[in-house]
Amino acid sequence: MGKPTGFMEYQRELPADRPPLDRLRDWNEFHGAMPEDGLRTQGARCMDCGTPFCHAGILLEGMASGCPINNLIPEWNELVYLGLWEMALERLHKTNNFPEFTGRVCPAPCEEACVVAIHSPAVAIKNIECHVIERGFAEGWVRPRPPAVRTGKRVAVVGSGPSGLACAAQLNSAGHSVTVYERNDRIGGLLVYGIPQMKLEKRIVERRLDLMRAEGIEFIPNTWVGRDLPASHLVEHNDAVVLCIGATRPRDLAVPGRELAGVHFAMDFLTRNTRALLSGGTNGSLISAAGKDTIVIGGGDTGTDCVGTALRHGCRSLAQFEILPEPPTERGPGNPWPQWRKILRRDYGQEEAQARFGRDPREYSIMTKLLVGDAKRHVKEVHTVRVQWVPGADGRLEPREVPGSEQIWPAQLVLLAMGFVGPEDDVIEQLGLERDARTNIRAEYGQYATSVPGVFAAGDARRGQSLVVWAINEGRQAAREVDRYLMGSTQLP
Ligand SMILES: Cc1cc2nc3c(=O)[nH]c(=O)nc-3n(C[C@H](O)[C@H](O)[C@H](O)COP(=O)(O)OP(=O)(O)OC[C@H]3O[C@@H](n4cnc5c(N)ncnc54)[C@H](O)[C@@H]3O)c2cc1C
Ligand code: SF4
Repeated sequence: MGKPTGFMEYQRELPADRPPLDRLRDWNEFHGAMPEDGLRTQGARCMDCGTPFCHAGILLEGMASGCPINNLIPEWNELVYLGLWEMALERLHKTNNFPEFTGRVCPAPCEEACVVAIHSPAVAIKNIECHVIERGFAEGWVRPRPPAVRTGKRVAVVGSGPSGLACAAQLNSAGHSVTVYERNDRIGGLLVYGIPQMKLEKRIVERRLDLMRAEGIEFIPNTWVGRDLPASHLVEHNDAVVLCIGATRPRDLAVPGRELAGVHFAMDFLTRNTRALLSGGTNGSLISAAGKDTIVIGGGDTGTDCVGTALRHGCRSLAQFEILPEPPTERGPGNPWPQWRKILRRDYGQEEAQARFGRDPREYSIMTKLLVGDAKRHVKEVHTVRVQWVPGADGRLEPREVPGSEQIWPAQLVLLAMGFVGPEDDVIEQLGLERDARTNIRAEYGQYATSVPGVFAAGDARRGQSLVVWAINEGRQAAREVDRYLMGSTQLP
């Protein structure tokens, strides 16, 4: 514990974000930096409590409580307070291959489970994490560390999102020769074509990939396993195969008018936007919200990323629909600490919409009934009705339409951000893998072995659409199990 009285003396502080109207003019990250003194003071707020729930990483009521990769948070908080940044970095890398990603985009279940948070705002763990790794890059402490010895074993990783990258990094560190196959033109999975630039600048991903290349990992983009390359080829030419293919099948909206022009899946909108940005401006495939009344259907994080992107395009108006009721503003009695708080949160997109249009764009308890097009079959209206959630015959809450609550919304762009329903079929079918009830690849958590010997699965493809930090957790653990499979025992954590 750096300073025993720190949690009583200091208040939680974060660096100021750039003002919303300012940041809407560009695609740069909007979180600010904090001076060293401020960070050390924030580190001093850690109580180093006997049982650090922040570090525990458990599932409570289906939600993560504490850090899923078991970051050694109290240890690096103390080291930061003492100004021992390189030691803090070393501790951070023991559990996390990519703190520069989680330090930016993790929802920080660690902070929800922080013991200080029982009586005052949590220790600013995520911000400290981000600054530790950025300090490491700035000081030149983050260097390629290729393995001293190669084992002669070859492993193919399919998919280059955070689970595939974490798995590849760990396997490579154990001396195996790793090749990562990716169907997209760029490596990074949803870190690149998903999470938008203003939350995670793509140069940050590229910086890490350069290190991984220098450590000996081979990346093969533009290769769709199951189409460009038979999955059986990978099984035959490698000692093990790890499928980290994500859960990228989007949930569709089954209403009349779905086929109209101007109605897109959120991921098409976001991917094309990032591709256009990375190729130096707009290109022909951009779906632009400029000058359009834009409706985002889906109140989650993907929807929020659509909100932020549409605002930067210069949409004319904006609404974000959520069929569920508005959450409470404070923890309910059935949602105690250290559980993740199920409360109303305002993310960056809503903050920006408030600044741009003077109101939060979210509409709760609203159901889309119909999309209406113009003479050219382009969407022009969204018809909705409000719903009430009432217990059905089996006792589970279900939506019931509220008579007289019908509304018509003008819309020339409709973005569907209603979640994802599982991984895509190609590789799974080619290899004849078993699936679980949610169509994810069947492989037990902690084991990662699929129904086919030598084939493993990790990340969203195994657990369903989740978080970057869970993908890193699964990628690391799957690497450990692959190493055990290949060598009979393992030193990997
Ligand atoms: C819009 C959006 C925003 C998000 N924002 C956040 C956030 O802020 N914070 C957070 O923690 N989480 C966020 N998430 C969730 C997070 O991005 C995912 O949980 C995480 O990326 C999953 O990692 P993964 O490696 O399992 O899969 P992915 O990142 O989905 O990567 C899978 C990769 O496999 C490739 N692939 C698939 N099939 C094949 C094949 N047959 N051959 C070759 N390649 C293949 C895909 O192209 C993809 O690149 C967000 C998700 C979305 C959609
Ligand atoms: S990875 Fe996420 S949960 Fe873990 S310490 Fe960082 S912000 Fe917290």
